[in-house]
Amino acid sequence: MLVTVNIFFLNICIIFLISTFSFYLLRNRLPIQEDSMLSTRIYFGLANGVAGVLLMHNAIDLNGALIDLRLLPLALSALFGGNVSLMVTGLTLLVYRFLIATGDTLDVLLNSIMTLAGFLVFSLLFRRFIKRQAYFYTAIVTTGSLLVLWRLITSSSPANAWTTVYIPYFILTIGGAILFYRLSALLQQHFVLYSYQSYLASTDQLTRLANRHVILEKVTELEKHDATWGVILFDLDHFKSVNDSHGHAVGDAVLRHFSILLNEHCPSPITVGRYGGEEFIVIIPDTRVHDPVQLADTIVQVVPQAPFVMQDHAVSITVSAGIAYASHDSADLVFKHADAALYEAKVHGRNQYRLYHS
Ligand code: GH3
Ligand code: MG
Ligand code: MG
Repeated sequence: MLVTVNIFFLNICIIFLISTFSFYLLRNRLPIQEDSMLSTRIYFGLANGVAGVLLMHNAIDLNGALIDLRLLPLALSALFGGNVSLMVTGLTLLVYRFLIATGDTLDVLLNSIMTLAGFLVFSLLFRRFIKRQAYFYTAIVTTGSLLVLWRLITSSSPANAWTTVYIPYFILTIGGAILFYRLSALLQQHFVLYSYQSYLASTDQLTRLANRHVILEKVTELEKHDATWGVILFDLDHFKSVNDSHGHAVGDAVLRHFSILLNEHCPSPITVGRYGGEEFIVIIPDTRVHDPVQLADTIVQVVPQAPFVMQDHAVSITVSAGIAYASHDSADLVFKHADAALYEAKVHGRNQYRLYHS
């Protein structure tokens, strides 16, 4: 009895570990659903296929009859990834049995294919008629375990098989299914929240650009690699008067407008961030590939030509920029240099850029 409980929990751990891993790797594509990207559904089906193979190798010995829980990953695939994931999981199991785990008689293999085909047909039918996830899952697990039970009953039937094999199998499968339904729902929810929190923690909410925290992480990384990187600090000119004349809401819209312009001119791997208020920062990781001076020049010229247009009138803005190169200096110093150059641009009349010179 203890051995059975032990191996049952080992099986649950296998599914749990693989699901956690899958949900983590797919964390930016959650929740997994029937209309998720095809590659997501295929990957999810494959991961469940691997879980199924491991479960086959950790079959539970129920008084001489070896029973495995591969039905659970099949049901999970059907539940989250729909028919595509289910097919991939089923195919993975079949391919494994055909090509790797040889030694099965043809009869056993045909039996497996029939059971799987039956499972697929039922899944397709249930998907059509049952819309609630929980009901679909209950239906698919119950039908699946009844199919396996049918196979067991027709293949070997010792006198006391009902109490020693069939009923315990049913209890283990349904118990595992209920346990795993709750666990996988919680896991998905956890990773969805995790991705959302990471997004909030790294993004400026007004402009959707990287925030100060991400920028500092980025430059710390560049500092470590002794790279030839550069910084451009942008500050909108007389922005206070935009707020004063048009209101704070229009001021916000102008900041968003500028952030879109900036982003459009900064191809990857350049990082664009909001440094604070109406100050923006551009980090150029390799100044031999992207010339900071040329980039600053383009943006300073483009901004006045692209006013923010409202229903009845347009708000023209200009921007000043300060540029600094990192030549083995600390990030702190490079930022100070860019700030000093920006100050120069401001005192020399704004709407221009300045490059820091020591
Ligand atoms: P300068 O050309 O010298 O940079 O002048 P400025 O008016 O742009 O600079 P100042 O520092 O005097 O004013 C910046 C203004 O930016 C003041 C502040 O109200 C406004 N501001 C900062 N953050 C936001 C924001 O998130 N939304 C809006 N609408 N305004 C903001
Ligand atoms: Mg400012
Ligand atoms: Mg300003």
